[in-house]
Amino acid sequence: MLFPSDCRICGVSLTNISRLPVCEECLDGIRPLSGKVCSVCGERVFSPHVFYDVGGGLLCRLCHAVEPPFEKAVAYGRYEEGLRDLIHLLKYGGVRPAANVLGRMLADAIVLLDPVLGKEPIAAIPVPLHTSKRRERGFNQAELIAAAALKLNSAEGRFYLADHVLERRRETKSQIGMTPHQRRENMRGAFTVTRSKAAVEGREVLLIDDVYTTGATVSECARVLLRAGASRVWVATVARTPKMASTYSQIETPADQELSEAAEVPSARAG
Ligand SMILES: [Zn+2]
Ligand SMILES: [Zn+2]
Repeated sequence: MLFPSDCRICGVSLTNISRLPVCEECLDGIRPLSGKVCSVCGERVFSPHVFYDVGGGLLCRLCHAVEPPFEKAVAYGRYEEGLRDLIHLLKYGGVRPAANVLGRMLADAIVLLDPVLGKEPIAAIPVPLHTSKRRERGFNQAELIAAAALKLNSAEGRFYLADHVLERRRETKSQIGMTPHQRRENMRGAFTVTRSKAAVEGREVLLIDDVYTTGATVSECARVLLRAGASRVWVATVARTPKMASTYSQIETPADQELSEAAEVPSARAG
């Protein structure tokens, strides 16, 4: 006989048997991003560190300084509290049903791209894991989340899942404390487009990942895809790491980096 378990986020006893051991309250507490964000990378912008593109769109200091290789990145929510816990449940706890909830959130984020995406079917490409990491984990969370999002009606026909197009050739070092230049060096050659080049040639691509941290990973993927002939690359993630307003006076200092990367390490979690 099955008994309902406790919520894996707050610990409250669940009253129903559910595939996802998370209570309603914890799920309801996960809210989409609000406030003014950079029209390119989706980072929160704080005055007076606000810039504008030619069309009047808001730009963060970083995107104003260096144009990213992708067109636009969107995210559902902040990588903190309940949303971070839910992503950790999937990635480190192996709770696969969490991918369905995360996929729904990703689908909501993708809607933000509706006005700017091309009309042709778009190749949805999950950011790949290295084979050894994938074997160890048993799955690629980005793939599960992408598949769940694309199953929703709103996505029908607009996107086709193009996994196995992009491949991670090697593990990359932890980016803690790296300068933007070092991060780019660290990523160089990490990804490659496989035999199925036809899947991206002349097409728009939607890169999908669970978390957007510094943008170094999706930027490198975007460069590789553009070199393989993709016409434009978009990015959608479930979450993005928050940065503090105070760090906005400078262009990503190492300390700022450490803060945002630390959020990815489960042992560094508070609480
Ligand atoms: Zn709960
Ligand atoms: Zn930006």
